[in-house]
Amino acid sequence: SKTAYVRTKPHLNIGTMGHVDHGKTTLTAAITKVLAERGASTFVPFDRIDRAPEEAARGITINIAHVEYETDTRHYAHVDMPGHADYVKNMVTGAAQLDGAILVVSALDGIMPQTAEHVLLARQVGVDHIVVALNKADAVDDGEDTVLTDLVELEVRELLTANGYGGDSVPVVRVSGLKALEGDPRWTASIDALLDAVDTYVPMPERYLDAPFLLPVENVLTITGRGTVVTGAIERGTVRVGDRIEVLGAAVETVVTGLETFGKPMEEAQAGDSVALLLRGVPRDAVRRGHIVAAPGSVVPSRRFSAQVYVLSAREGGRTTAVSTGYRPQFYIRTADVVGDIDLGETEIARPGDTVTMSVELGREVPLEPGLGFAIREGGRTVGAGTVTEVG
Ligand code: GDP
Ligand code: MG
Repeated sequence: SKTAYVRTKPHLNIGTMGHVDHGKTTLTAAITKVLAERGASTFVPFDRIDRAPEEAARGITINIAHVEYETDTRHYAHVDMPGHADYVKNMVTGAAQLDGAILVVSALDGIMPQTAEHVLLARQVGVDHIVVALNKADAVDDGEDTVLTDLVELEVRELLTANGYGGDSVPVVRVSGLKALEGDPRWTASIDALLDAVDTYVPMPERYLDAPFLLPVENVLTITGRGTVVTGAIERGTVRVGDRIEVLGAAVETVVTGLETFGKPMEEAQAGDSVALLLRGVPRDAVRRGHIVAAPGSVVPSRRFSAQVYVLSAREGGRTTAVSTGYRPQFYIRTADVVGDIDLGETEIARPGDTVTMSVELGREVPLEPGLGFAIREGGRTVGAGTVTEVG
């Protein structure tokens, strides 16, 4: 039988973000390789990280885009999003649960549009701590070119400051994911330095363990002979095998009959854990990504809310034209993707680059609460990022 999960160190959720091709997946693989050599991780090669989660969904195992590893002081779940579109969605779904992020910036290319967009989204969804991996440092010659790397570093710090991250104090570590993966000692050491920065700069977040259990569903799988499994990161509370839960959206109430994290069974899971829950007697089709598993009666979903929203500028990948009352984009709230009507009241229009307040009426009910972050998307791009200020 499988080895049970033993909680010996604090658990945090982190992830890589940044522009496509800047080396997020290579760096993720390199981190697991460096730590695997110490027995603190299992090496996850590049091509096992960089593929669609569905292909790898086997048994009760969680989404392959998550890898796990340990440093001396902590246990981490690390998420590496396969592509930009997934990234944006996951920033407000899976990644909304990030306790910290590693911003990967190629020292050769500097800040690119998705670098800026991810930083902005991270701020919006409440990722409070960012550590910068200035990647591909191997490809920048020592000497004259380090001036260029210095400029990139400066530019990154400015971007972070502009987004409220206090860019002067953010750790910026020059790394090479590629060379570390090849075992080059100089660059293996750079990965250690990066992990040290994460260990020390990203604080252990407050976990709401006493709150009623809530888990936004990320994925649904079927295990032949065992039933339906939902996966996701626990937003608050705790859950044990045998607990009664309800699935909001599916109108199902049932019992948790199995609980795992990274393929290891556990007795009790808590806020911050990435888990798979086996649910008794739930048909596969009844539950979807976007539904919420919660302690029965603990949340009341609603359709209306007020929010403060930042409308992305064209430079950040947003619209080139203003939006007005009656606009009906998609709202990405936790793992849900719901259409909503916006009402801008007396403001009437919101231009790219504006921060506005708006009332929203969603196409269906979802659990909402003040402070909840979300993204607004239209035709495959992010046009806004907001926070719920009032429900109803
Ligand atoms: P992602 O899109 O951000 O996940 O980027 P990938 O990890 O897929 O890497 C994109 C390309 O950059 C690949 O060809 C990598 O081999 C290359 N690359 C990644 N990290 C490094 C590095 O540290 N140094 C160099 N020279 N190339 C790198
Ligand atoms: Mg990648």
